[in-house]
Amino acid sequence: MSEKDHIAGALLEWFEQHGRKDLPWQTNRTPYRVWISEIMLQQTQVSTVIPFYERFMTQLPTVEELAAATEDSVLHLWTGLGYYARARNLHRCAKQVCASHKGVFPSDRAGLEALPGIGRSTAGAILSLAMDTRAPILDGNVKRVLARYHAVAGWPGQRVVSDTLWSHAENHTPQKRVADYTQAIMDLGATCCTRSRPICEQCPLKRGCAACAQGRQSDFPGRKPRKPIPLKQRWLAVVTRPPGEVLLQKRSDSGIWGGLWAPPEFETASTAEAWIANTLSLKAERCRIDEPFHHTFTHFKLEAHLVRAQCAANHPETIDVKSDVDHLQWFAFHPLPSVGLPAPIVRLLARLGNENPQRSN
Ligand code: SF4
Repeated sequence: MSEKDHIAGALLEWFEQHGRKDLPWQTNRTPYRVWISEIMLQQTQVSTVIPFYERFMTQLPTVEELAAATEDSVLHLWTGLGYYARARNLHRCAKQVCASHKGVFPSDRAGLEALPGIGRSTAGAILSLAMDTRAPILDGNVKRVLARYHAVAGWPGQRVVSDTLWSHAENHTPQKRVADYTQAIMDLGATCCTRSRPICEQCPLKRGCAACAQGRQSDFPGRKPRKPIPLKQRWLAVVTRPPGEVLLQKRSDSGIWGGLWAPPEFETASTAEAWIANTLSLKAERCRIDEPFHHTFTHFKLEAHLVRAQCAANHPETIDVKSDVDHLQWFAFHPLPSVGLPAPIVRLLARLGNENPQRSN
């Protein structure tokens, strides 16, 4: 038996007994359902994704409904999952599938990859899992299995390493039972060939695995070269008004919180205070600066200082907000608004909401 057949055969046999068959996106497998799961699973674990996926599918069960939804409602369903560009691309992609493909996903790799947010691996997953069409995938779990099996040195973010892994992925993908094979290799990476403690004794690929034979499992895949993470300081204008509302601004589409609602952000305390003074006719003396909160992103650490100001109830200052120009809007703390909110801002609003408990009538 060739090495290629050995891998596909061993994985398919292992899958019968150990593969996962009851994940929510494995029932009623359609391109839409597989696509949503694949996008959610990028950089996020299965156990975290499941409740988000189920909520998303209940609210937006078809590509047409996703295309017709508002951006705020899509980002709201994504709140807590992070990497919000995924949700914005998802929305754009659904609109494109409806406008250009009559609501039917293309059934070839080039057509899928031409859609926003769909790369080669996601296209491969849609083709293999939802259409049973032969196409390799290379998500994080598959990269780990193949890098170890073939002892591929180097960080998969480098082109040359990624090309080598793709060529192994292409080579191992069988002609038949592609959906089961694809699920099997993903499951092996998630449950057996895990990042920190691979269970090689129970692995169906042990016989040919180079990393296992050399006892060098932890060397593969190679790690990303480390760079110090820069610190960014920002000042958030946190303006509240009785009986328990906060002024939020919808961010433009670019940037890490693109399309989400958050307090207006500034590079210095004085520009935040000047903005509060100009926009709400509140004197800078009425502002105070609270302890900052911290949040770590992939590329930088954020230190966000809060420039707090409180408007008086029924004061004219509270209504002079140019919402259409500045994308500003007052929101109640209770319940939290049904729009996209970054996770640190959800925590901030919960804290501010406790300072401004809802008044009972
Ligand atoms: S033998 Fe070990 S290192 Fe190799 S693929 Fe299996 S679990 Fe991973």
